[in-house]
Amino acid sequence: MNKKEGLEKLNKEMLSCSKCALRANCNQVVPGEGNARAEIMLIGEGPGKKEDELGRPFVGAAGKFLDEMLSSIKMKREDVYIANVVKCRPPENRDPLPEEVETCWVWLEKQIEIIDPEIIVTLGRHSMERFVPGKKISSDHGKAFRREIDGLGKRIFFTLYHPAAALYNGSMRNVLIKDFKKIPKVLEKIKKEK
Ligand code: URA
Repeated sequence: MNKKEGLEKLNKEMLSCSKCALRANCNQVVPGEGNARAEIMLIGEGPGKKEDELGRPFVGAAGKFLDEMLSSIKMKREDVYIANVVKCRPPENRDPLPEEVETCWVWLEKQIEIIDPEIIVTLGRHSMERFVPGKKISSDHGKAFRREIDGLGKRIFFTLYHPAAALYNGSMRNVLIKDFKKIPKVLEKIKKEK
């Protein structure tokens, strides 16, 4: 089975998940989308209202902003893989609970294992906390970290503000745009050092 087929199979299994209470309160599971052979995997927090309606990640206002930033580094969403730490929308867009992130981890872990990206870009503090715990987004955004992740081995993470948080905050927005543009250089360095 190649990566694309493996991911399709996994994402189909995900659709019938009811491991936690989030599923009972949302419209549908949002597995993720993009290139199964992507070098860059972007991981957000969880589906919002629009994502829950459409079954696709980052399709609302934050998603439009994300598309613009991808285009600033000459990429499209079809070039990367986009997923979330929880695959079902938390009620009223509340923060996902640690136990929900943990329960949903089986899915994200398998997605990362199949795609095996060169770099994982965390979007926002919940995603950062799952992989690079104990850091502060206000001081640790725009940085690369190497971490050993149980079951996944050594991985490189690049931590960014969440596009939704930065969307309507002028200074955070500028910082995020600037940090995002560092991704190609960081990726190039990772590949050179391999
Ligand atoms: N915010 C997220 O964290 N993920 C989405 O898919 C959409 C908005």
